Amino acid sequence: MNAPAIRKKPGCRDDHDPASLPPAVALAKIKQVITPIEGATTAPLREALNRVLAEDLRSGLNVPPGANSAMDGYAVNGDDLPQQSDHASTRTLKVIGTAWAGKPFADPVPTGACVRIMTGALLPDATDTVIIQEDAQRDGDTIKIDAATRRGDNVRQAGEDIAVGDLILPRGRRLSPADLGVIASLGIAEARVMRRLRVAFFSTGDELRGVGEPLQDGAIYDSNRYTLHGMLSRLGAQIIDMGVVRDRPQDLEAALLEAADLADVVITSGGVSVGEADFVKQVLREIGQVAFWKVAMKPGRPLAFGRIRQALFFGLPGNPVSVMVTFYQFAQPALRALMGESETDNLTVAARCDSTLKKRPGRVEYQRGILRRDADGRLRVVKTGAQGSGILRSMSQANCFII
Ligand code: AMP
Ligand code: MG
Repeated sequence: MNAPAIRKKPGCRDDHDPASLPPAVALAKIKQVITPIEGATTAPLREALNRVLAEDLRSGLNVPPGANSAMDGYAVNGDDLPQQSDHASTRTLKVIGTAWAGKPFADPVPTGACVRIMTGALLPDATDTVIIQEDAQRDGDTIKIDAATRRGDNVRQAGEDIAVGDLILPRGRRLSPADLGVIASLGIAEARVMRRLRVAFFSTGDELRGVGEPLQDGAIYDSNRYTLHGMLSRLGAQIIDMGVVRDRPQDLEAALLEAADLADVVITSGGVSVGEADFVKQVLREIGQVAFWKVAMKPGRPLAFGRIRQALFFGLPGNPVSVMVTFYQFAQPALRALMGESETDNLTVAARCDSTLKKRPGRVEYQRGILRRDADGRLRVVKTGAQGSGILRSMSQANCFII
């Protein structure tokens, strides 16, 4: 008689598990149910950095505001230019004044006259062309010009860069330092931005201690709350740190319900595996609608996603590297979409790998890598040493994932 199989269900060590979702499918399922939060506020420009624009930003100004000179030279009326057809013809014009950047020439410019003009100076009324100084022969208060210049040459037209009503930045844009400069260049002092996304999170585990507390046998410091805090800060979330919750179903339930009342999104780490003390799944079944998945990825695998009351829920795994990998791959794109951002995907590039990578079939691996550009401008990547899901230093040294 054959001995009965001890293990029937796929476990964490199996690489091929038909019940696991490919990461792209899990992400698509998440994105399907996301609609951006509502609510916008007006922020002074400096405080709008990294916030998401809540409405299209249009220009109320022409840039440049008026026609001005692109060169140092002479502003003339195009009617006074010598005949283009006659290359030998020249013309003499009287110089009646000077236009400076910030100090325009305000008098009329009659036929046969011109104005000395500096780069950036407004074109005087009745002039429409600038003859660059190298093309003009100056003699006292006159210049002699030939047929080299055409009407409109060397002039920057009003609104040539930006015209009144032009779309400057679209809603859904996360504002960068350059964006703030563009908005300021239009004389706009504040921006309508999405309200901050409220994100509550806590760690689960009887073994966890806070930094500063003594460590007894078997205890470890809680690092996930710090990595999560950092990743959420970068996204500009309003962070509600709920500390550590012990592995007791009633504690978990109370904490999850409180978090769901406080926040738009609830994130936990740990307790989603298949161990005796992993209660997140069980509690969620009772208080929320939860899709619990195994994702065919490494590290990561167990991932809970769903809703508790009005809040979206991410139950991330407990291992310090897994928490970051699953955050970056699933939670971050989801949070960006919730924040109203139109661009939510992580950037993926092709690079030549200079390390030997080991990988077993069946799961997408997110090994930690260092990406750089070599002397010839090509992207190269190396892995950061040991790749265990508890080795947080592999993450700390990395600047990318090797997928
Ligand atoms: P779990 O999913 O709760 O079984 O946790 C998986 C592994 O991650 C265990 O070794 C935990 O001790 C560890 N772990 C869980 N939460 C944290 C945390 N907040 N900080 C550091 N390690 C953790
Ligand atoms: Mg645990």
